[in-house]
Amino acid sequence: MSQPELLQIGGATAEMRARLDAEFTVHVLSEIDDFDAWAATHGAGVEAVMTNGHDGVPAHVMEALPNLKVVSGYGVGYDAVDTDTCVARGIKVSHTPNVLNGEVANTTLLLLLAGLRNFRHDEAWARSGDWEAKGNAPLSTSPDGKTIGILGLGRIGQEIADRLFVFNPEIVYHTRTRKDVPYTYYADLVEMARACDVLVCITPGGASTNKIVNKDVLEALGPEGMLINVSRGSVVDEDALIAALDSGKLGMAGLDVFEREPHIPDALKASDRTVLLPHVGSATHETRAAMGALTVDNLLQWKADGTVKTPVPECAHL
Ligand code: NDP
Repeated sequence: MSQPELLQIGGATAEMRARLDAEFTVHVLSEIDDFDAWAATHGAGVEAVMTNGHDGVPAHVMEALPNLKVVSGYGVGYDAVDTDTCVARGIKVSHTPNVLNGEVANTTLLLLLAGLRNFRHDEAWARSGDWEAKGNAPLSTSPDGKTIGILGLGRIGQEIADRLFVFNPEIVYHTRTRKDVPYTYYADLVEMARACDVLVCITPGGASTNKIVNKDVLEALGPEGMLINVSRGSVVDEDALIAALDSGKLGMAGLDVFEREPHIPDALKASDRTVLLPHVGSATHETRAAMGALTVDNLLQWKADGTVKTPVPECAHL
C-alpha cells in the first residue's frame, strides 16, 4: 500500500526521520532543485508538512499543496505558519508545547547569570592573562533579590518564574489577561519596566506582540536594567534596543532571538553590554528529542485517525 506523502521543511533528527520514513513518503524541501517542477508532479499528492518555528510554511509552498491536511510544527512557536489560511482550508496545525519549558527557562537563567555576573568579560579576563597582567577583574552585579518582570506568563514564563526562585526575586508580570498567580500584575508594560531590574520576554511572536518592547519600555528599564529576550526577535524593536544600549539608557541585553535570523546586527555583536546566543533556547539533545518525538507523534496520530495530539489553539476545533 502506498504511504501518504509528506514535505519536510527544515531539519529533522535521525530518530525523527526513521519514524517518518516508516510511515510516509518523505520529500525534503531543501533537496528540491526546481520547486515548480516538483510541485507539478508531487504537489497534489502531499497531505502532510513537517516544519519548524523559523521556516513555517511559505505562502508559495502552501499554494502548491492543494490537498494539504496537516502541518506539524517542530517547536512551540508557530507565528511563521499562516493559521488563518490553515483554518480557512481546514488544515490541522500542531506544535510542541510543554516539553521545552524547562530548557527555555534554563536558557533564560544562563543569560541572566552571564549578563549580570559579567561572564563574557570575566572569562576573557581569565583566558587572556589580564588577571596576571592587570589584577582582579571589575566587580559585577548579583542576581539575588532583584525584581524580575516576565512579559508573557504562559507555559514557559511560569517555568521561568519557578526556576528563578533560587535567586529569591520579586516576580512581576505583564500579559493581556491577569493570571491566578501570586505575582504582581502590571496592565501597563512601561510601568512594569520602570519597576524592574530585569525584563524577560517570553510571549509568542506575531502581530499582537510586534515590537511591544519599544524605546519607551527599554528606557523605562533604565541604565542599570537588563533585557532578556528568549521569545521572538519581532517582540523587541531592535533599532531602539541598539540605540538604548549605545547611549547607556539601557544597561544590558541577553538575547537568544533576533529580528532577521540568522543575521545579528553588527552593533549588537560589537557591544560589550550584550550576551548573544544563536536561538538555542530549546537546543539540547534531550529537549530536541522530546520535541521531535511529539512532532512525529502528531503526524502518526493524524495518519491513524485524522486528529493531532497537540493542536495550536486556532486550529483545535478542526
Ligand atoms: P503560551 O501560549 O503558553 O504563553 C504565552 C504568554 O504570552 C501568555 O501568558 C499570554 O497571556 C502572553 N501573551 C500573548 N500575547 C501577548 C501580548 N500581546 N501582550 C502580552 N502578553 C501576551 O506560550 P509558551 O510559553 O509555550 O511559549 C511562548 C513563546 O516562547 C513561543 O510562542 C515562542 O515564540 C517562544 N519560544 C522561544 C524559544 C527559543 O528557542 N528561544 C523556544 C520555545 C518557545 P495573554 O494571552 O493573557 O496575553
